[in-house]
Amino acid sequence: MDMPRGFGSCLFESIVMSHDDALFSVDPQGRISSWNPAAERLFGCAQAQALGQPAQALLARHGLSDPALPCPGSQTLVRDGATLSVRVTRSPIREPGRADAGTLVTVHALQQPASAAEDAAPRPHPANVYESLVEGSDDAIVTKTLSGIVTSWNPGAQRMFGYSAAEMIGEPITKLFPVDRVHEEEMLLQRIACGERVEHFETVRVRKDGRLVEVSVTISPLRDAAGRVVGASKIARDIGERLHAARTIWRQANQDELTQLPNRHAFHQQLCSEVERAAQGGGQFALLYADLDHFKAINDSLGHAAGDALLVGVAQRMRWALRSSDVLARLAGDEFAMLLPALDDLRVPQMVAMKLQAALLLPFSQAEHPIHVSASIGVCVYPRDGRSADELLRHADLAMYEAKHAGRNRTVSFEPAMDRRARGRLLLAGDLRRALRQQELYLLYQPMLRAADRTLAKYEALVRWRHPAFGVVQPARFIALAEESGLILELGDWVFRTAAEQALRWRDASSQPPRVSFNVSPLQLGADSDPTRDWAEHLRRIGLSPDRLVIEVTETVILDDSPRIAQRLGELRQQGFRIAVDDFGTGISNLASLSRIEVDYLKIDQSLIRRLPSEPRRLAICEAIVAMAHRLGLEVIAEGVETEEELARVRDIGCDFAQGYLFAQPLEQAAATDWLYAEGLRQRSPQPGA
Ligand code: C2E
Ligand code: MG
Ligand code: MG
Repeated sequence: MDMPRGFGSCLFESIVMSHDDALFSVDPQGRISSWNPAAERLFGCAQAQALGQPAQALLARHGLSDPALPCPGSQTLVRDGATLSVRVTRSPIREPGRADAGTLVTVHALQQPASAAEDAAPRPHPANVYESLVEGSDDAIVTKTLSGIVTSWNPGAQRMFGYSAAEMIGEPITKLFPVDRVHEEEMLLQRIACGERVEHFETVRVRKDGRLVEVSVTISPLRDAAGRVVGASKIARDIGERLHAARTIWRQANQDELTQLPNRHAFHQQLCSEVERAAQGGGQFALLYADLDHFKAINDSLGHAAGDALLVGVAQRMRWALRSSDVLARLAGDEFAMLLPALDDLRVPQMVAMKLQAALLLPFSQAEHPIHVSASIGVCVYPRDGRSADELLRHADLAMYEAKHAGRNRTVSFEPAMDRRARGRLLLAGDLRRALRQQELYLLYQPMLRAADRTLAKYEALVRWRHPAFGVVQPARFIALAEESGLILELGDWVFRTAAEQALRWRDASSQPPRVSFNVSPLQLGADSDPTRDWAEHLRRIGLSPDRLVIEVTETVILDDSPRIAQRLGELRQQGFRIAVDDFGTGISNLASLSRIEVDYLKIDQSLIRRLPSEPRRLAICEAIVAMAHRLGLEVIAEGVETEEELARVRDIGCDFAQGYLFAQPLEQAAATDWLYAEGLRQRSPQPGA
């Protein structure tokens, strides 16, 4: 059978002839021995012209390497000044009985070649196209010899590196390399010499003015007409801006802008990897969760700029108190978290917490006046207190919460019971909303007696919650919940109205009606909406004089620097309400602050009263407090008097009133009314010996 030249049978011939890839064969002498229509289209060269030509020369004319050379990846085919990415592969042609039957070359276009219409359009001379592309490019386009000597230098290169063409041509390219990067050149040149391309290699170069530029470099081999690699062309793109943007995005996602510390997101990630590491290596580590005490009040009174400066200062001192291997992060507002890795002694977290608290001891000076900051800290340890990052964070937070409720400025370690308590709180918090609507709350009234003759002077209204499932719930368990959920405003209003109605009823029923005092949360006084705004108006409507009521605020409210609270208390007092400072002596007692806010009563906390009989020094202090209070025009109430001995001491130091289990527990409203009647009878009937 007479075989056509080159390709075999009819079927194969039609496959080859209709194939989209350029296919051609090269005989053992290196001449083109067959040429399909796709090759005609791709190279713009008719079969008649191609056959018998040296393949190497034809390929080199189109910028392609010798098919005899290994040519990994894609190459760029040049035709009439246009370029096209192609992949060239070669395979030996095997024919029975012939050792060397030549080579089959396949050129596969990686992108669509320009359409016929475009082909027909008038075209500038290729040399001009290249020149204008190179001259106009923002990228640095440079060529160099295989020994790294610069042979061309475009304006883009001048802009990027600061050197003119005259300064660079003939110079080694390593002039642009930072000293620690000079080794890169050798590696790059080696790859180029092998005919390889280096794509998007990201590195740093030095400008003429010494500044560093971050660049992405693509280097391709330059070949002579015979296809030998004789140099390299290099395109460098300035990626500083892109890297800068990427870094900014990273920073925004991972760093707290104010303190430059890792943020919650970054901390969480570090915690996760620490958990992983410890789980594999069997180690333990600690997590500390710190929240500043009363920061909101400080922030409100100083303004946000000073508040921010304070946070920066706090972050700095905390950082100093830690080892460099410890992680410190700002999670939010005034919340900080610390990770103490590789813990071998379980006492360390407590010691570190003490260090942190000590670091805050000295006052911060801001706008010329000293500010005292303390922190409540929760501690938990992996794996004892939790095995996942989320669990550890939640437990450290719970421990911190308990530190707050134990009086702030202290450290508490996590215990499993806290988890149960938190679940209980969650249940209660949900129920509290309903409790207000369904009237599950009620007030008890505890008598306050005149210390001198034990006659009834006032009643303190104390709230209780009759929970349908849990029975009577004490305020210690739900006031804080109400404060956290914001329900305290509604609850506080209810207490005010109920206490006022009761005071009205007692006023009408008794010739010597007791004043009724009720407790007000700092949140009610600090609230934006001013829930106390229409209290005086309400009393006018029901016909009760405000001076029948006493507002009890805790000592911390008075110590608080917030001008808003001071102003509200001043207004309430102006309207006729009496003001009592509750729990005096539990905080950093400061009689001087009493001169700023005018009040009527001081209630000495039961913890002080309890120690009176056994601690003579405390007795002397209390005596001085009472004397000073009297000098300021205040009357003094002793809270929590349980024994006759305590009552005797209370009288000794000059307290005006006493309240406590010695006389009565908080009473149901009916019992309190009975007491009032009995009191009236006692006073009307002649006293023996009076
Ligand atoms: P508080 O205002 O200092 O009330 C005094 C607390 O001491 C009351 O506890 C009272 O029952 C208790 N107490 C009275 N005499 C004695 C005694 O001789 N010995 C002992 N050990 N305790 C005595 P209660 O009723 O559990 O109230 C606790 C706290 O809850 C109150 O302290 C107050 O701060 C808050 N609270 C109570 N009712 C309200 C309210 O309606 N609104 C707000 N915001 N807080 C309230
Ligand atoms: Mg009270
Ligand atoms: Mg009290």
